[in-house]
Parts: sequence; structure tokens; C-alpha cells
Amino acid sequence: MRWSKLYLPTYKESPSDAEIPSHKLMIRAGAIKKLTSGVYTFLPVGFRVLRKIEAIVREEMDAIGSQEILMPILHPAELYEESGRLQNFGPELFKLNDRKQRMFALGPTHEEVVTDLARAEMRSYRQLPQTLYQILTKFRDEIRPRFGVMRAREFIMKDAYSFHDSDESLEVTYQDMAGAYHRILDRCGLDHMMVEADAGVIGGDVNHEFIVLTEAGESEIFTCSCGYTANSERAESLGQPLSSNESVAEGSPVRVETPGQKTIDEVSAFLEADPSQLVKTLLYRSEGQIVAALIPGDRSLNEVKLMKLLGDPQVQTLGDQEILDVTGAPVGFSGPVGLPKSTRIIADKLLESYEGMIVGANENDAHLRGVKMGRDFVPTETASISEAKAGDTCPRCAKYELVTQRGVELGHIFKLGKKYSRSMNATYLDRDGKDHKFIMGCYGFGVSRAVAAAVEANHDERGIVWPRSITPFHAIVLPINVSDDHTIKVAESIYAELSEQGLDVLFDDRDLRAGFRFKDADLIGVPLRITLGERSLRENKIEIYYRGEDRSELVDPGNVAGLIKAYYDEKPAA
Ligand SMILES: [Zn+2]
Repeated sequence: MRWSKLYLPTYKESPSDAEIPSHKLMIRAGAIKKLTSGVYTFLPVGFRVLRKIEAIVREEMDAIGSQEILMPILHPAELYEESGRLQNFGPELFKLNDRKQRMFALGPTHEEVVTDLARAEMRSYRQLPQTLYQILTKFRDEIRPRFGVMRAREFIMKDAYSFHDSDESLEVTYQDMAGAYHRILDRCGLDHMMVEADAGVIGGDVNHEFIVLTEAGESEIFTCSCGYTANSERAESLGQPLSSNESVAEGSPVRVETPGQKTIDEVSAFLEADPSQLVKTLLYRSEGQIVAALIPGDRSLNEVKLMKLLGDPQVQTLGDQEILDVTGAPVGFSGPVGLPKSTRIIADKLLESYEGMIVGANENDAHLRGVKMGRDFVPTETASISEAKAGDTCPRCAKYELVTQRGVELGHIFKLGKKYSRSMNATYLDRDGKDHKFIMGCYGFGVSRAVAAAVEANHDERGIVWPRSITPFHAIVLPINVSDDHTIKVAESIYAELSEQGLDVLFDDRDLRAGFRFKDADLIGVPLRITLGERSLRENKIEIYYRGEDRSELVDPGNVAGLIKAYYDEKPAA
């Protein structure tokens, strides 16, 4: 490929809406182009990377016996009514009507469509297990599309679905998939972890995420040296030893004046108490009932855990006026003592170890000290509803401290069980001719997001440094003086030799300043640059520059092809 013929627009400046390195660099390196919010075109360089990742995904899916199909993007909305997800997906589901006013959805995932396929086609236990996959564009109307193709409204995903007649059979496929995902990410050169995760709108019992470790990643994961791993939505913890303990007041709590002191910081400073001794009372409405969530003052509520506990994805926080109506006090003075009887009080598990606590008095400008749970108020239930923090004691080994890392979620695998086969009545016949619901698994992998994650994990201040397995080009051949006949002749012969070996080579034939072309080469991130200068050619030497290691060596023209072939045959160290 001649650079002069390649559609590769590069830019010095990042677009103003780009917040993270991968978004900035993919635009600057001409890999993607924005059409509208959360919708992007892959340009030739970006598309080459996308195709290489797709090829790796395909090989690994085929290797575990998963079969490729292609399902429609346009889904009749009745299928979502059957599964109940028309409601659960909410505004994230793109909906449209046809000319007869029949409602359709643009596929956000394909559980409904594939379950519909299975109930029509897989009638006998003899046909099980089956695993089907596809690589297809998906649509989700993200509330805040951002980070380029990292969080887009239209994106390419590999999604696989498996059908089984036993939990043991599902377990086998689930482990095969986990193995395939590890291999896909290893082959893409991406450092990653598999973590316990929350099921979100997909549902099901057991699920794991595959997280590529990067500093700017949206996901926070918790790990322990005992092997425990979980994402922040899922992570449990045993908390940390309390630095002080509020003593329990004899008989009943002590009311203290706290004029104008509303936030945890204000109250703890005013009362000279550690923030962990204060207990936040957060008020919600769920299906008509008032819910009071109690958590330690130095922690945040984990809304995913609360939604899951309540079984209500639409849980609403109360507004200022509603708080006044329910508690009799303005925001900042809510507490669990004396709430209306119908209130469902959920106390965080960590509060079980508290002797006394400080809470709002449900009265303007007042708090209660020395409050004892069980005596002064009785929670409806206790559950883990607060977020884990770095330094907390691990919930599994109860011995070591949890540490946090950031990353990008690329894969998510689920044991769905009978969630969809039950709601959509998808059954097969066993050997005695009896009907059973399918046991299912589903397995997603963000292919277009993987391109961005690869950049996020592999870049420097000059540009992208592609992992060698997914680079758009294996090498750039760059003759410095494009009007020197001898230089061009040698460059052409190296280009031909490398191309014959099946390598993708970019020939920079542009009549531009060398410095400018070096900058472009660094920006688009090709791992190897072969530079031909007139002076070194006179000594029969050519420079190979290794982008990732920022190192160059001078070699004989006859050795170039061999060295480059060896570089790509060798397994990367990481
Ligand atoms: Zn542990």
C-alpha cells in the first residue's frame, strides 16, 4: 500500500470532545471519524485493526466448536414483550415503527432472537448442546455516549449463545468460553483479568467480566492476593477496623444540636467524631414503598446492589420535599429512628459491627448520638449495599486487603440458566418425550471497543503503539529522499520482498519533510519503520526503528526481510 494512495487523514490536534487518550489518538491517527454523537466510521487504518481482531475472535470461537451465524439487526418488539425486556432495557433500546405501525427494535443483544430460533429449531435433546455466535453491529441508546468507540451507541460485538440440557453441560461450555476469551485477549496482546461481575439487564445467575487493565478505564476492579476478583458493582468487603467507636448512650440516644451542619464532613467536624461513626440515611421510593438505606458515613451507596436487592431497576431517590414529608426534616437530618412504620429499612452489613452510631434526628438542625441498632430502631434487613474501598479486608479470605485497579470491560460471559427459555417458553424433548426448558449461556465480546482498549493500553506521548498481532501494517518503508533513484530502487525491492512474505507494508512515498513523516509514522503506531537514507545506503545500511522500544539498528539491506519476519514470528514477551 502506497501512503500517497491511502485514505489516512492525520491531525496535530485532538477534537475538543475527546477526553481519553484512545479517543484522541484514534481520531488524530485517522483510524475513526465521528458521524454524530456515539456513532463512528472506521477508516482504512482503524478498519484493518478491527478486521484483525475479528479474525482472532473467529478462530478462537471456531476452535471451541461455536458455529457462526448471522442474525437480523431488526427485531420485532413482541419478542421483547415476551421476555420482559421492553421494560427493563428502558430508553436504551432503540425503537422504530414500520409503515404498518408495527414496533421494532434495533438489536442491543440477541437473547430473544436466538431463543426464538432455538424454540423453533432445536426440538430434541439429541441436538444439544449447541453454541452459536455472530459478529454484528449492535445498538444501544447510551445516555451519555463518550470516549469515541469505547462507549458508542452503535458498536460491533461478538455475541455467542449456548443451549443445554443440564447445568453440567453449561459449565463445560462456560469454561471453554472463558478459556477462549483469555486466549483472544492474550493473542491481541492485552493484559487482562477475569472478574466476578453484576448481570445488569442481561440477567442470570453467574457471570464474569474480562477487563483489560488501563489507567483511564471506566471499570474499577477489586483484587486480593488470595485470588478474589470482582468489579466495583459486585465487590463485597469486610470493611476496615473502626478507628474509634461511638459509645452507646444509656437507655436512649442523646439528641444534640447541629445547627446548619448537613454534610458528613460538617457534622463530623462539628461533633469531633470520625466520619465512619456517622451513618448516612438515604431515602428512595421503590414500587410505592419508601426505602431507607443506611450506610457508614465514609462510604458510598452501591446503587446496583440496592436495585438488585429490591428487584427494581427503576428505584428513585426522594426529592427534597418528599424527604421533608416523610421524615419531618429537611435534607441532611434524616435518620432511622422514628421513621414511618411502613418504611423498609435496609442496613449495610458493615453496620453490624457498630456498637453505637450518630444519625440524623429527623428534626431540623439536630442529630442523635449513641444510637444502637436493634434497640433504637430495627432494620427490616441487613445486606451489603455500600461500595468496597481499597484497603478493605477481603470478603473471601478475611485476611488480606483489597487493592483496586482500573480497566476497560471487553468481555462479559453469563450463565443465564432458564431466564429466557422460561419467559419465552423455549423447550426441547428429552429421551422420554417430555418437555424441558433450555438451560442457556450467553457470551459477549466488544470487538470495536477492543480497538480502543488496545490503544488505551498501548500508547505514548507521540502516538499509538499497536500490539504486533493487530497492527494495521507490519512495517512502514520510508525512503527519505523520494526523488533519489537508487533509494527508491532499494526501497521498492524491500517492499516487494516483505509483501511476498505476506506482510502488510505501508510504503511512505510522500514527497514531504522527513521529520513530518516520522511524526506521522509514530502517531499511527506501526511497530517497525524501515528508513532508507542516501548517506547510510552508500555504506549499504538501512535503519530499522522499533517503535515500542524506541530503539533503532542499522542492518544490511539483504537482512531486512529476515529480521522483520523474525520479529513477527517471535512471541511478544508480555
Ligand atoms: Zn482474599
